[in-house]
Amino acid sequence: MNHVVVVGAGLAGVRTVEALRGRGFTGRITLIGQERHRPYDRPPLSKAVLKGEADTSFVDTDLDALGVEFWPGVAAKSLRAGVVETTEGEVAYDGLVIATGADPIRLPGDGPQHVLRTLDDAHELRAMLVPGARVAVIGAGWIGAEVATAARRAGCEVTVVESASAPLSTAVGAELGGRTLPWYDGIDLRLRTMVDSVDEGGVRLVGGEFVEAHVVVTGIGVRPAVEWLADADIDLHNGVVTDEHLRTSLPGVVAVGDCAAWWSRRWQARLRVEHWDTALNAPDVAAATLLGEEAVYDPVPYFWSEQFGHMLQYAGHHPAGDRLVYRGEPEGKWSAVWLAGDGTLAAVLAVDRPRDLVQGRRIIGAGSRLDAERLVDPQVPLRDC
Ligand code: FAD
Repeated sequence: MNHVVVVGAGLAGVRTVEALRGRGFTGRITLIGQERHRPYDRPPLSKAVLKGEADTSFVDTDLDALGVEFWPGVAAKSLRAGVVETTEGEVAYDGLVIATGADPIRLPGDGPQHVLRTLDDAHELRAMLVPGARVAVIGAGWIGAEVATAARRAGCEVTVVESASAPLSTAVGAELGGRTLPWYDGIDLRLRTMVDSVDEGGVRLVGGEFVEAHVVVTGIGVRPAVEWLADADIDLHNGVVTDEHLRTSLPGVVAVGDCAAWWSRRWQARLRVEHWDTALNAPDVAAATLLGEEAVYDPVPYFWSEQFGHMLQYAGHHPAGDRLVYRGEPEGKWSAVWLAGDGTLAAVLAVDRPRDLVQGRRIIGAGSRLDAERLVDPQVPLRDC
């Protein structure tokens, strides 16, 4: 293989470049990214960058030392076998890495609407979070909760509009999400409320009520950024479909990160996981596969969120569990686990209890069974359950 083209210069793209070099690939590598920035991490955007504690979050990597041709500000437009068409012309490849991530979903309406996906988004939004500003956050998921945290801290008047009956419902279910309700003290939280449109000066709710806002932030989820592949002869279904080696349906093409829907041996399901840990670790498998080596991506997915002064950590895949066990709340710290029918651990959610997360993730990886009676006692370490 002489020339590998990597489309998407986010974490997954740059880590794949590093993994290719780490595995001894000495051929040409071209890294194409539609943003004008060099690769950066996104988790700090809704945390340190939004709070004004950091200005950037660039990935610690040296593209020159890696011998990479980096094309910032260039977008891939389409793909046919062996050739990527970009906004700067065609580029031929022997191996291709699709790492184009995901794009935020926007709501209808002509009013100004912010999303938080890029460094530029974060800078723009940060400048608007000033004391007294009325901020409407649409969606009480991970991003919405973190934006609300930063806005409240900046002294804004915050309204959060959420269609479900509790925050974080889509991610962890209403029962656990409901446990974060006290954190919204001082925020006008509207649950079971749908937005009709984002208009000039605020948000029109279904039913007609108008919520006035100087700043509207939409955090209702993302879609895999695969529109540029619409006419390509490649399997797409909720992202780029891959096998457990991250191999796509096109020869010599792998996909990785937020845009990839990979087959998980562990869960016997196709997963598309929009988490930093996936973008960090899947690239080594993608690089190995591209170089013809045998590697399987089969992680226990991991995610964290920092909101309202709390650290939430999640590991596993709870749709594989059919029983939710809550582990109590000593000193406001709590965790919960999902057990599969055979007593094995499917997932763990830990709030300010990092030990439960670390032990739980290991237990999930090992496939061990747990005793539900012991689990409910938060004083008993997970590893002893
Ligand atoms: P991306 O980071 O999206 O990178 C893809 C890149 O490809 C982008 O730069 C994009 O512009 C580019 N691209 C897209 N289309 C094209 C094209 N056609 N041509 C060229 N380039 C293209 N995860 C956690 O686990 N914990 C957290 O606390 C957390 N916080 C987050 C906070 C924010 C604000 C955001 C946005 C995400 C957060 N995440 C978090 C998720 C995590 O950042 C993502 O899972 C990770 O960034 C995915 O990396 P990626 O490289 O697959 O995609």
